[in-house]
Amino acid sequence: MSEGISRRLMAISDSATMSVTARAAALKAAGRPVIGFGAGEPDFPTPPHVVEAAQRAAADPKNHRYSPAMGLPDLRAAVAEKTTRDSGVQVGPENVVITNGGKGAVFGAFAAILEPGDEVLLPAPYWVSYPEAAALFGGVTTFIPTGAADGFRVTVDQLEAARTGRTKMVVFVSPGNPTGAVYPPDEVAAIGEWAARHGIWVLADEIYEYLVYGDSVFSSIAAQAPAAAPRTLVVNGVAKTFAMTGWRVGWLVASPAVVAAIGRLQSHSVSNVANVSQCAALAALTGPLDAMVAMREAFDRRRRTMHRMLGEIPGVSAMEPQGAFYAFPSVEGQLGRRIGSHHVMTSLDLATALLEEIEVAVIPGEAFGAPGHVRLSFALSDEDLAEGLNRWRLAVS
Ligand code: PMP
Repeated sequence: MSEGISRRLMAISDSATMSVTARAAALKAAGRPVIGFGAGEPDFPTPPHVVEAAQRAAADPKNHRYSPAMGLPDLRAAVAEKTTRDSGVQVGPENVVITNGGKGAVFGAFAAILEPGDEVLLPAPYWVSYPEAAALFGGVTTFIPTGAADGFRVTVDQLEAARTGRTKMVVFVSPGNPTGAVYPPDEVAAIGEWAARHGIWVLADEIYEYLVYGDSVFSSIAAQAPAAAPRTLVVNGVAKTFAMTGWRVGWLVASPAVVAAIGRLQSHSVSNVANVSQCAALAALTGPLDAMVAMREAFDRRRRTMHRMLGEIPGVSAMEPQGAFYAFPSVEGQLGRRIGSHHVMTSLDLATALLEEIEVAVIPGEAFGAPGHVRLSFALSDEDLAEGLNRWRLAVS
């Protein structure tokens, strides 16, 4: 029954990551021993000092009222300070708008910049929400495929080949979801300089900035390529770094004009992000980072275990993730075979078979514009991780 619903919203598909996760959760709630590699969120609780700050904030009547649509002044200032410190780009509170999660920042950025018909360059595999959010504001996405052979990193030559007179924006995500790829500083600089040369806006998603492993380093595009800074829109938030996905606090760092435009939009749509959540985010940003460091150590350990165990599964080949908390192996070698009662022809079939036959939830690459792969999150317990990958290996050995 879609009669009467706008074309704009009918064109939006349900987030595939959310729906597989929901199916796995329903099976789990029914008592099934499902191992979930689907979720894009840390399995750790929010650090106690953050929760306590929220409890204090909830008891303070000033937080029971509306607050500025751009965000609490203290939080905007803390984000500016943190960005200057971590990204090496000098910004002030006037460059920051607090949004409903990183997703709110992505929506705000597209709303502020895109005119109908503007083209957005999006390296694939990509995070599911990008094409949907761009389309909502009239953006036309040009997908640029990358593969494991090039580390799932787009090159300037590829971007240049895709550029047209209508190209308005490039989406740049490092560390990346779903691939775990991290761009080295020289490649970040080259992409930023290319964008600046052509007056193209850069939507730089830095939400996984702290989650890098081994020799990989995070680098911010506006710092690597200062010429790109005036047209750079940085998406970030507390969700991944501080195990705060449910609190819904993110932000966009951009020019004061862009930030003010998004503030006007928010004043008529969401008003302010929940004050208690903003106070929690403030405590996270201004407090110690040891909980994050401990979480990152656990992710690093699980990342290495996952990479080793994926390598032992016939028909799976994986690049070692360098950041975020996802592995994105190719499963081409498993296609064309039977798993239980399932004849597996695509990575979508494989995800369905794994869930139904061995109760292991992975996200099919189709969701990220990269069929033939699946995404596995390593933000789950060491025991579950080993159990799930063992089940998969035994099912196909
Ligand atoms: N960007 C990327 C690349 C993500 O993976 C996510 C979460 N899946 C977000 C942004 C949004 O995060 P949130 O809205 O939970 O802050």
